[in-house]
Parts: sequence; structure tokens; C-alpha cells
Amino acid sequence: YGTLNGKVALVTGGSRGIGAATAVRLAREGADVAVTYVDGKEAASDVVRRVEALGRRAVALRADSADAEDAAGAVLRTAEALGGLDVLVNNAGVGVLGPLGELSLAEVDRVLAVNVRGVFLASQAASARMRDGGRIITIGSCMTQRVPGPGGTLYATSKSALTGLTKALARELGPRGITANIVHPGPTDTDMNPADGPFAAGQAAMTAVGRFGTAEEVASMVAYLADAAYVTGAEFSVDGGHAA
Ligand code: NDP
Repeated sequence: YGTLNGKVALVTGGSRGIGAATAVRLAREGADVAVTYVDGKEAASDVVRRVEALGRRAVALRADSADAEDAAGAVLRTAEALGGLDVLVNNAGVGVLGPLGELSLAEVDRVLAVNVRGVFLASQAASARMRDGGRIITIGSCMTQRVPGPGGTLYATSKSALTGLTKALARELGPRGITANIVHPGPTDTDMNPADGPFAAGQAAMTAVGRFGTAEEVASMVAYLADAAYVTGAEFSVDGGHAA
């Protein structure tokens, strides 16, 4: 028995890291899964193979969340390829950290385009396509709860916008039984933030449990929210106590 049997999910940025772990986890719960990627064609194909090995259908779509047509188009392509859409996981994101004075306009535009505009447009497209009872799950950041030091202005700005989006979506789509929630990972071992990277020890020390999380630990919360019908407009930290 899978909680997501017969459902179709789209995970943006699903070729690596939290997105890849989420795609596989949702498939394990019974969903057919589409993932988007930009550069990681091989990695995305590998995720497709892992999903198919679980007996589910999968498709990898090249779609840059920074591109407006791609961001909305991935939703439509998923619905066409897999026959509808029930779960959207807004995971694709970029982390640009640095002193406020050194952030370029191009960096500001890029981070807002991927982390905010792309998420908005995908959610908008999903709301038009999604079946009643659907789920929109967005990956935020522990930096929306607590910014532990300098260098986070742009990233925290972008991720905090998603909390407003999530609460407003919950109100807008609640009458159709569609829920919207946001998950805030703490330091999580991925290519973006390797547990053996130069800033890792400091990040681990800021958690209560004293370690990095795994992509699978974040995916587990996403899987819960993909099932839960009476949970909406809410924020969930999976951060080892980073915000405590
Ligand atoms: P990774 O950098 O390890 O993986 C990012 C994934 O997103 C890749 O599959 C990548 O695809 C894809 N991607 C990147 N840019 C785009 C784009 N413009 N359009 C479509 N896909 C894109 O990241 P994580 O797994 O660490 O992060 C996932 C999410 O979690 C992000 O939103 C991040 O901000 C958030 N997060 C991560 C934390 C951490 O410590 N790791 C902490 C808090 C939040 P490709 O293969 O093409 O490069």
C-alpha cells in the first residue's frame, strides 16, 4: 500500500540532492514522477531509472526555472506525459551568499528568478492544471527562521518570499482541497552544501543535534505533506534544531 498510489508528482530540480531524494521517495509511496533539471541530464536520467526500478513511471524534463516559459511549461509537460498532476514540489533553488555590497544586480535577478519567480509561475500553472485535492510543497530554508551570520541577505530574502506565497496559496486553493506548505531544511548534505565543505563544521555546530541532515530526511517530510489533507499554509523545519 502506498499513500500516493495513482498520483502524479513534479519535482523541480530533481536531478540531484534534496530533489532527487524526494523524487525517489514519492515514487516509493506510489507516485509517478517528473523531474526537471538544467545541466544534469545524466543525473536526471539516473533518477528516472531509480523511479522506474520501483515500478513507477518517470520522466526527466529540461526546464530552467529562471525562464518563465520553462517554469510554467514543466507543469504542462508533466500533465501531458503522465496524465495530470497531483503534487508539485518546488525544490529548484540557487544559493548565492556574500556580503551585501558585493552582490551584483545580475545575481539579484538570477536568485529572484529561480527561487521566487519560477516558484510563483510553477504554482500558478499547477493551480490551473492540478486535480482537486492536490498538494503544493515548497522548499524554503532554515535561513527564513534564523540568519546565523552575515552574507545571507539575498538568499534569505528570496526564501522568505516563499512563506508568503505558501500561506496565500493555501487560502486561494483551500476550497478545492489543494494544500500548500513549506519545508525549511537546515544544513543538508548535497552538492550545494557538502557536509565536508569549508563552512560545514560551523553549520553543524549551529544545530541542536550537531550534524548535517540528509536529503532523505527532508524528503520524508515532503512525503508526509504529499499525503496530509488537513495540513495547509504551514511551515515545517527539518533542520536538526537550527532554529531552536
Ligand atoms: P543542489 O544544488 O544539490 O541541487 C539543485 C538541483 O536543482 C539540481 O537538480 C539542479 O539541476 C536543479 N536546479 C538548479 N537550478 C535550477 C534551475 N534554474 N531550474 C531547474 N532546476 C535547477 O541543491 P540542494 O538539493 O541542496 O537544494 C535543493 C533546495 O533546497 C534548494 O531550493 C535549496 O535552496 C534548498 N535548501 C538547501 C539546503 C542545503 O543545506 N542543502 C538548506 C536549505 C535549503 P542541475 O542538475 O541541472 O544542476
